Amino acid sequence: MLFFPAVESQNFDLSVPFPPLYIIAIQVFVFMLSDDFWHYWSHRLLHVDFMYRNVHIIHHEYTAPFGIIGDYSHPIESIVYALNAVSGPIMYSLVASYTGAFKGAHVIAILVWILVKTFESIEVHTGYDFPWSPNKWIPVWTGADHHDYHHIEISNNFASMFRHMDYIFGTDKLYREHYNKRKQLELKMHQKNQKNQKNQKNQKIQKDQKVEKEE
Ligand SMILES: [Zn+2]
Ligand SMILES: [Zn+2]
Repeated sequence: MLFFPAVESQNFDLSVPFPPLYIIAIQVFVFMLSDDFWHYWSHRLLHVDFMYRNVHIIHHEYTAPFGIIGDYSHPIESIVYALNAVSGPIMYSLVASYTGAFKGAHVIAILVWILVKTFESIEVHTGYDFPWSPNKWIPVWTGADHHDYHHIEISNNFASMFRHMDYIFGTDKLYREHYNKRKQLELKMHQKNQKNQKNQKNQKIQKDQKVEKEE
């Protein structure tokens, strides 16, 4: 019931045929950057002592999160994050109506954005850093590993979708140290396993040769 008045009041674009794919991609990318900016600062605000104790602590009840924890939060936090998510389409359409240079945010781009945001919110809370996770082909994507660390060490990793805000403002230093140490450890363990496998293989060959000689 409120959909069309909301779309009209915000100068969102409902026209058909739909805009070309690259226009939708540009709009979704703008929405991502806007959400990311506001999410970073509102998330940092939620970690100020009073806000943390009274609002954000609910989301941090889980130190090892899983999918639906993305939406497990105080109502105030949910409203703030919803406003962050719509900031992109609203600002994009505001610039469009003031400049007249292009049309407002298209509803299809907004729907794609809602899907991307929902996927991101679930993915960063799954606790699984899959080999096909977006951070494997988009290095600046946060992903489960990045956000998992925030649930362990709350002074680091406030970003939502991209890592650049944490990097610029130095709020991922502990995470990067931890990540590098872990990678070195993983590499050492991998080399040790390979060495063990090689030794076992050699021992088996020697054993087989011994048996053959005895026969
Ligand atoms: Zn979280
Ligand atoms: Zn937090």
